Amino acid sequence: TVGMVSLDASGSLSVGTSTSGLFMKKPGRTGDTALVGDGFYVDSEIGGAAATGLGEDIMKGCLCYEIVRLMGTGMTPQAACDKAVYSFTKKLKERYGKIGEFSLVALDKNGNWGVATNVEFTFAVGTEAGEPAIFIAHPAANDQTK
Ligand code: ASP
Repeated sequence: TVGMVSLDASGSLSVGTSTSGLFMKKPGRTGDTALVGDGFYVDSEIGGAAATGLGEDIMKGCLCYEIVRLMGTGMTPQAACDKAVYSFTKKLKERYGKIGEFSLVALDKNGNWGVATNVEFTFAVGTEAGEPAIFIAHPAANDQTK
């Protein structure tokens, strides 16, 4: 999946996702990428989030909605990503024993961003200042999936 959250000069936020789905997926499967709140969510008064990875797991947590909801309580995008993703991965692992790989990005209305992943994940941050910066994220110290 390619996912993007953007903030324009007028302060409007948007989010977009595109995917080929999972390799060898069953015909008719709908993943998280097409579903509001699961693979993407945005509220211009708060922020937005986009997901990539195993849709069957992402969908169990409505992770993009959850991240935006947490940002709406005053959390930074990074704190919201950490709380949503790592508490959810812990719960999934306790309940199902194993979890898929997934990664989330978030941006708030002030242009602050965050990311959380349970696998190595490459992402880019672009500003009007010039070329996008490329980052590689790793599971954070509070990731309890290991
Ligand atoms: N999230 C996508 C899906 O489950 C797959 C992906 O991100 O590669 O359909």
